[in-house]
Amino acid sequence: MHKPAHHITVIGGGFAGLTAAITAAEAGARVTVYEAHGTLGGRARTAQGPYRTNEGPHALYAGGPHWTWLRQRYLIGPLAPLPPLEAARLRLRHHGVLHRTPPFAMLKLLRRRIGPAPVDTDFLGWATGIAGEEGARAAAHYAAVALFHHDPGGLSAAFVQERLRRAAKLPPEAHYPRGGWGGVVDRMAARAWNMGVRIETGARVDELPQDTPVVVATGLPAARRLLRDDSLEWPSGRTVLLDLAVRTRRGDVFAVSDLDAPGWIERFTAQDPSLAPAGEQLLQGQFPIGPGQTRADGVARAEQLLDLGLRGWRERVTWRREAVADGRTGAVDLPGRSWRDRPAVDRGDGVYLAGDQVAAPGVLAEVSFNSAVTAVSLILGRPALDLKRA
Ligand SMILES: Cc1cc2nc3c(=O)[nH]c(=O)nc-3n(C[C@H](O)[C@H](O)[C@H](O)COP(=O)(O)OP(=O)(O)OC[C@H]3O[C@@H](n4cnc5c(N)ncnc54)[C@H](O)[C@@H]3O)c2cc1C
Repeated sequence: MHKPAHHITVIGGGFAGLTAAITAAEAGARVTVYEAHGTLGGRARTAQGPYRTNEGPHALYAGGPHWTWLRQRYLIGPLAPLPPLEAARLRLRHHGVLHRTPPFAMLKLLRRRIGPAPVDTDFLGWATGIAGEEGARAAAHYAAVALFHHDPGGLSAAFVQERLRRAAKLPPEAHYPRGGWGGVVDRMAARAWNMGVRIETGARVDELPQDTPVVVATGLPAARRLLRDDSLEWPSGRTVLLDLAVRTRRGDVFAVSDLDAPGWIERFTAQDPSLAPAGEQLLQGQFPIGPGQTRADGVARAEQLLDLGLRGWRERVTWRREAVADGRTGAVDLPGRSWRDRPAVDRGDGVYLAGDQVAAPGVLAEVSFNSAVTAVSLILGRPALDLKRA
C-alpha cells in the first residue's frame, strides 16, 4: 500500500511531468521527478545550435488553462509577436491555387450561432450539412494544423470543430515563446527546483515505485510498458516534418495552409528571427500521412507546396532535416468517442496517468497540462487548482 500523499513520484520530465511536479510542490507535497533523457522537456525541447527547431510544440494557445497558469507564475517569458506585415503573408492553397482568404463556405463553420458539433458524427458529414462538401473539406484540412491527422474529416465532428475554431480565431490564439518552448521548460524546471522538487535526469524508470503515489507522465506507449497494461492505447497522427533553413528573401510567405489536403508550412523566423542565424529563415512543413503512406510521400507533398508558395526555395536551402512524428502529436477522437473515453487518469492503487493521450480536455499540450493537474488533485484528495480560473 502507498503511504499518504506527502511524497509524490513523477515519471517523465516533459510538459506534463513538470506541471504535475510544480502543482504538487505548490500544494506542499515532496516531489521527485525521474526523467530518462539527459535533459528535461520531452517533446517540448528546443534544439541547441544554429537552427533552434522544436521537436514538438511551437504555438502556445492563449485560450487554454495552461496559458493563465504559466503566466501567473511568470513562466512563459518573452513572446515573439507576429508582425502584422508577416501575418498578412498567410496563404491558403485551394484547388491548387494560393489565396489570401479562405473559401466563403468554410467561414460558415466559424459562425457563432452554430451550436456545438456532435460527438457521434464524423466532421465531414456534419460540416457538409452546413457548409457544403467543398467548404467542409477545406475546413477539415485547415484544422489539421492543430490535430496532425491524415483524415481530419473522418474524425469526430466535436473534436475537429473545437480545433478549427481555436486555430481560426481572431485575434489568433497562437502565441510563440521567444526562442521556442525550451525557454518555458527551463523556467518550469527552475520553479520546480526552487520549490524543492528533486529532479533526476538520465534516470529511466522500469518499475513503478511502491512506496509513493506516482504520476506516470511518460506518454502512452511507455506507460503501457510500465503499467504492463495493453489497454493503454488511443489513436494519434503520423506526420512528416520537413525542417528547412533558407537564405532570406524579402516578401516570403509567413505560412501556407493546404486546404486541398492536410498540410501546413510555417516560417517561424517571421515571428522569431532568433531561431536561425542572421540572413536565414527557419521553416517547418507538417504533412500528415495515412497508414499506407511513407515519409517520401509526405516530403513530396511538402516540396510541392513549397514550390507553389516559396519562390526559389531550392536554391536557397542552407540546412534540411526530415522526420516522422508517429503517435507524438496528441490524441485524436474518432466519431462516437470523446476525451472522456480515453485511458483514465486514475489507474487505481496510487497510479495516475498524465499526458496528451489520456482522459482530459484541451488541445494538444493542454491535455498534458489538464491531466497532470487532475492527477495531482486526485492524489491530494482536493482540487490542486481551480481549472476554471486558471
Ligand atoms: C510536430 C509536433 C507539433 C506540435 N505542436 C504543438 C503546438 O504547436 N502546441 C501544443 O500545445 N502542442 C503541440 N504538440 C504537442 C506537444 O508537443 C505535446 O502535447 C507535449 O509536449 C506532450 O508533453 P508530455 O509531457 O505529455 O509528453 P513528453 O513531452 O513526451 O514527455 C514525456 C517524458 O517522459 C520521459 N520518459 C519516457 N519514458 C520514461 C521512463 N521509463 N522513465 C523516465 N522518463 C521517461 C521522456 O523522455 C519524456 O521526456 C506538438 C507535437 C508535435 C510532435
